[in-house]
Amino acid sequence: MDHLQQLTRQIRRYLLWAILFENIVLIGAWYGLSELLGLPTIACAAIVAGLGFGLTVLITFIASDYVLQPTKALWQAVLHIAPGDHGVAAPNLDALKVGHDLVASLTAEIYQFVTQAEHHPEQSVGSSTELSDAVLKAMPLPVVVLDNQQNIKYANEPTAQYLETTSAELVGKNFYSMFNLLFSSDSTLDNWLSGVREQAALASQTWSRVRMKLNESTKQFDLAAHYSKDNPSGAELTLVLFDHSDQYGQDDQAASLVALSVHELRTPLTLLRGYIEVFEEELKPNLTPELAGFMEKMRATAEQLTAFVSNILNVARVDNDQLELSLHEESWGEVLTAATKNLELRARVRGIELTCEVADGLPTVGVDRVSIFEVINNLIDNAIKYSGNGKQIVVKAQMSKDGQVETTIQDFGVGIPTGVIPHLFDKFYRNFRNRSQIGGTGLGLYLCKAIIAAHGGNIWVQSHEGKGTTFGFTLQPYTQLADEQKNSDNKEIVRGAHGWIKNHSLYRG
Ligand code: ADP
Repeated sequence: MDHLQQLTRQIRRYLLWAILFENIVLIGAWYGLSELLGLPTIACAAIVAGLGFGLTVLITFIASDYVLQPTKALWQAVLHIAPGDHGVAAPNLDALKVGHDLVASLTAEIYQFVTQAEHHPEQSVGSSTELSDAVLKAMPLPVVVLDNQQNIKYANEPTAQYLETTSAELVGKNFYSMFNLLFSSDSTLDNWLSGVREQAALASQTWSRVRMKLNESTKQFDLAAHYSKDNPSGAELTLVLFDHSDQYGQDDQAASLVALSVHELRTPLTLLRGYIEVFEEELKPNLTPELAGFMEKMRATAEQLTAFVSNILNVARVDNDQLELSLHEESWGEVLTAATKNLELRARVRGIELTCEVADGLPTVGVDRVSIFEVINNLIDNAIKYSGNGKQIVVKAQMSKDGQVETTIQDFGVGIPTGVIPHLFDKFYRNFRNRSQIGGTGLGLYLCKAIIAAHGGNIWVQSHEGKGTTFGFTLQPYTQLADEQKNSDNKEIVRGAHGWIKNHSLYRG
């Protein structure tokens, strides 16, 4: 049975059922009104006619929606690939209740047709295959073409030079075995590709500041990709690299200089904190409450400065892909309580009560103690800084619905406007409303996100302006992590800050 016939039968069946249903309802209504309620025939006829009219209108509306579904999906498919930006998404074929097979086969034909037309530009624009070959060869930028198995089908001479090899060495190899790419966010080439493969026939995308490690050096470039589904030539993906190694390298050097200077602050700071502790121990019993208060503030400020220094150093590590986590089995209640305790003084000097509640029976987690302390430190420090008139901060740990250990830090402070929430985890982002009154760098949340992602968890925020904010993050139970390790070639649980965004699943430790 062909797809069109199938659709015709489907529609007939639906209509038949709908009309049958209407008739049964009307007969039932007639029987109920005349036999059970004993209404006169004229009244029964009027009510049943009204009901019939209402039902017919309703069925017409519902039926037209159903019947038009295939047409709408085809309309979407055509506009989706038509030239120009129509802002129409590819149809979701799984959601189709009628005509699924017909639409799926026609959509495939449309996509095939477009990719063929794209592949034979001479037919549409009157140019020649020789011309395209000549353009590719003369292109002064690295160009790589991949098939749908991600093997290299073509690499021009600049690509070979860029990788310090020859084109013959590249062709036929798996792309990821030759290109060790690192992206600065989780929108990677792989993630994008798996998205477009499901939804589009043609798509393009660009990335900036992509890194590639070669034997001796690190290259940095912007990357452009063009995807073409089921292209008859077998070329699925065309990649063009725009090298910016010099420029981006200079930025990195400037960042390293800052990191180096900040590194030098650590020694005097540690000494300073040591002296403050000695003074506190020796002098506190003899001090007036006012002077003792100053002493506490001095210690809290020195601790804050230490946290700032360690943030800057860690951001430099994240950016240079040098943050390595060593995950160990820990009792989360113990880690969280210890980290929270460290911040009690900082909260107390601001008149804030900091409480920590850990649910019973939490499983152990796999964490890097030093890095996870940074996360808790940053989130509680923010809760203190942005508490406004709020006088309480509640830290809680419990199991989430999907079996992860979830920690929340809730304050009752200034809150965050909805519009700025998507930017909070960006590097250097600071909300303009409070940046003039409250000190900060805009690095804390960026760092928290990188550290939590490297642990294999998620971080999120919920906030109401003027009422307060809750930050939450999840961690994998240790058993899950250990399972992952068992199935991996890499037996050591070591993760980089960019571990989850490496392009190849082999990397995940
Ligand atoms: P900062 O050093 O500025 O605190 P973060 O990256 O830690 O940098 O935070 C980024 C921005 O997010 C802050 O400038 C602030 O506007 C907002 N923010 C973070 N935590 C809170 C909170 N608990 N309440 C209100 N705003 C917050």
